[in-house]
Amino acid sequence: MEKKKYLNFEGITISSRDYGEFDKIFNILTPETGVVTCIVKRMKKNNQNFDSIDIFQKMDFKASVRENLWLIYESKNKFSWFERPIDLAKLISSNIMAELCIYTNSINENNKYVYHLFNLCLSLISKNKILLSLIYFQVKILLSEGIFPEINICLLCNTSLNPGNYYLTFENGSLICSNCPISKNNSILLEEYEIRLLKFISKNEISSVDIINNKLSKNANIKLYKKLSEYLKYHTNQELKSEKIFFSSLN
Ligand SMILES: [Zn+2]
Repeated sequence: MEKKKYLNFEGITISSRDYGEFDKIFNILTPETGVVTCIVKRMKKNNQNFDSIDIFQKMDFKASVRENLWLIYESKNKFSWFERPIDLAKLISSNIMAELCIYTNSINENNKYVYHLFNLCLSLISKNKILLSLIYFQVKILLSEGIFPEINICLLCNTSLNPGNYYLTFENGSLICSNCPISKNNSILLEEYEIRLLKFISKNEISSVDIINNKLSKNANIKLYKKLSEYLKYHTNQELKSEKIFFSSLN
């Protein structure tokens, strides 16, 4: 049996569920290890080493770890983005990012990057910049996972693409020029402004993206969000539960 280790770490709680009658299981996003699953035993009242743990909080934790079982025995609050109870739209959109994090939690060298990205996007959501946050998160996650689509050339024939509307095929992960064959299954038509925006977001930080995004209508943002979501769904092979609620709240 593996020896028990004791760890101090910072993390953001990104999902929680009850476990048994008194305990809880949290998924916690950490800068070093990515998403870790932790058990919190019945929280004792009057324990000064234990700040109560809620969703989407940044905290310092102490845990004992053995065989991938992380048992939290201390927690201190560091930062909270939201007033409680969390506004529903903010909660749903944060849940979408959390699910994406859990489903793409594969490439370890990107853990720090994803952690900072998540921090940033929660603060955007707390300022009600929900669609901006979600689209920015989608693009940067695609980049960090190495599955951001090729949008400068058609990968089938290596031709550079002039400005225009093009199909993005999921399997090739590339825009396809009008001379190459396109299967309309598993592909989406991206409009010229969407391609331009994707290019811009992929190369720029949030401050510049915020300025450009302000000029887009809410509907244009929703359209782009949905397209990126289809593409992500194809690559992660996962439906996001919170997204269904999100879409129905938009209609
Ligand atoms: Zn082509």
